[in-house]
Amino acid sequence: MIDLAGYRHRIRATLSELGIPEPLIQRRRLPVCPEADDLVVAEVEASGREHQLTPATAAAWAELKRAAAADGIDIQIVSAFRSFERQAQIVRRKLESGQTLEQILAVSAPPGYSEHHTGRAVDIGCPNQQPLEESFERTAAFAWLQGHAGAFGFQLSYPRDNPYGYHYEPWHWAHQA
Ligand SMILES: [Zn+2]
Repeated sequence: MIDLAGYRHRIRATLSELGIPEPLIQRRRLPVCPEADDLVVAEVEASGREHQLTPATAAAWAELKRAAAADGIDIQIVSAFRSFERQAQIVRRKLESGQTLEQILAVSAPPGYSEHHTGRAVDIGCPNQQPLEESFERTAAFAWLQGHAGAFGFQLSYPRDNPYGYHYEPWHWAHQA
C-alpha cells in the first residue's frame, strides 16, 4: 500500500529541485500517479530489454496482443512501467539540454504524474513505424486498437485536444483495471 502523503512530499521536493512550479501542474489538473508496487515482466524485446506491467495489465495486454495477432496485426510494447526516479531523470536531462519547461511538459509528465508509474500504461509500436510518432495514427495497428482495445480494458489516454495539455499521443494506452 502506497503512502500517498509521503509520495506527495517526494513529488513536491523533486518539482522544486527541477524548478517546476506547482500551480502549473494544478492548472493542468494532472492526476497524481502512484508507482506500482507489484510488477511482472510483460514483454521482452529482442535486445533483452524488459517491459514491466502490473499483473492484471500484463494479462490484459497478452490477450489484446493475441487477438491482434489473430487479425494479422503485430503490436509491441515500446515502453511500459517507468519509475518516478527515471521520470525525474528524463526531465532533468531535457532541462540540461536547454529545452524549456513548456516544451518538456508538453510531451513528458512531471515526475509523480506519469501514467507509466502505475504499471497500467503502455506505449505501443508496430513494425516499420518510428516509435512515439503521431504518424502511428495512420497505421493498421492504430485502426485495430481503436476498434478493439476497449474490449480488453485499454483506452487512449491523450487524444487530440486532451484536457491535460499533452500533445496527442496515439501510441499511449492505459488499462483501466
Ligand atoms: Zn506513454
